Amino acid sequence: MKNNHTTFRNGDLFCTHCGRTKSLPLPISTRVFTAYCEDFDEQHRFCKKTWTQPMPDGGASEYEKAQFWLRNGDRGISSETIFSELYLPVRAKNNYCHPLDPDDFRRCYLLIQMVPEWRAKLSKMKEVSEAWSRLVDNWDKLTEMLEEQLETKKPNGMYEFMKELGC
Ligand SMILES: [Zn+2]
Repeated sequence: MKNNHTTFRNGDLFCTHCGRTKSLPLPISTRVFTAYCEDFDEQHRFCKKTWTQPMPDGGASEYEKAQFWLRNGDRGISSETIFSELYLPVRAKNNYCHPLDPDDFRRCYLLIQMVPEWRAKLSKMKEVSEAWSRLVDNWDKLTEMLEEQLETKKPNGMYEFMKELGC
């Protein structure tokens, strides 16, 4: 994507300025895919920053906030792993994934922002894998590093630190 405010979100093209999405027809050839991306970039080149990530009501219950994330969150495999581990009553061991890079961690971080009760429950993720265990032990440090990266938009060693943790 040419604009730095157009991206992918939950499988659709997404504009972080106006919040509009465009679904891609699947299956899709590389040529058509490129055309869709170029078209979306062009349509959103000059749109104004009016969209902000919707957040659940302060008075919402933990369950309602988790439901809100499912509808409005920026989902990826690692944040869905937290969701299934802390929300679903049964553990499906397959398809479990930890965040592999700062962008994956960002989606996990946004889930915890939407459901703050789950920060205290993250210790449960330590049972999932050794990588998750080390991630949870360093969650506050990773959160600080991510917030710094989001602010400065510059790498700060977070990716390398995640690799040291076995991500
Ligand atoms: Zn837009």
